[in-house]
Amino acid sequence: MKYCRFQRHGQAQYGLVEPFAGHDLITRLLVTPPEEAGGDVESLRTRRIDQIAFGDAQLLPPMQPSKIVCVGRNYREHAAELGHEVPQQPLLFFKPPSALLSPGGTVLRPKISQRVDYEGELGVVMGKTCYQPAAEEDVRTYILGYTCVNDVTARDLQNKDGQWARAKGFDTSCPVGPLVTDEIDPWTGIGVETRVNGTVRQQGNTHDFIFALDVIIRHIAQVMTLFPGDLIATGTPAGVGPVVAGDVVEVSVEGVGTLRNVIADQGAGTSIVDS
Ligand code: MG
Repeated sequence: MKYCRFQRHGQAQYGLVEPFAGHDLITRLLVTPPEEAGGDVESLRTRRIDQIAFGDAQLLPPMQPSKIVCVGRNYREHAAELGHEVPQQPLLFFKPPSALLSPGGTVLRPKISQRVDYEGELGVVMGKTCYQPAAEEDVRTYILGYTCVNDVTARDLQNKDGQWARAKGFDTSCPVGPLVTDEIDPWTGIGVETRVNGTVRQQGNTHDFIFALDVIIRHIAQVMTLFPGDLIATGTPAGVGPVVAGDVVEVSVEGVGTLRNVIADQGAGTSIVDS
């Protein structure tokens, strides 16, 4: 099943996305948010609406996470390109929910940064509360579905600060979407590609993960509760690079679709004061 979250009659609603004659359409609303299905999305009640072309919908981030947990350096070649060792255990950091950006939204480069990079990634949406799952449990049952994430990073602030909160947490630094699907299996290998102005810059596959998704989820849930709707960004392949105002960044995950965002510079009057 594929679903999105979108603006309809001034309200945020979840919609089922279904293919019809070669086009994706929103044909039904999900009456309860999919995060509240307790992992059983097929049981969700839906309501028929006049169909909307998916491409015409005013999309929103397809989840409302309590937190966004990100994995750094989960592809060997990416760790190498930044001059880092391959980590011995998953390297975790957060992006705040205030960093979320809708599909089609504009990434605003902070005034205090001279270098902002794209990082295309597979996103995982949790479907059930997960804390210290038993060793024999299949952690896949906690997953609601998958999406595309751009872990936009102010690389100069990341190097300068030590902590990554500013570098990876600024407003608009977490574009996500355009939809969530449970119809892919990252354990079998899913392609992740990033394009800037149509030119391919990153081409990875989840079978090259240093840490498999179940290892990542267990590692996180060993110390903190993952709630339904929480988002995990699973790390970026090699090929990261800077973007400037006017660039169009597209992150495609095989079987999910394409997350497309434009880059702009933060305008006058909205400056974040450096300190
Ligand atoms: Mg990243």
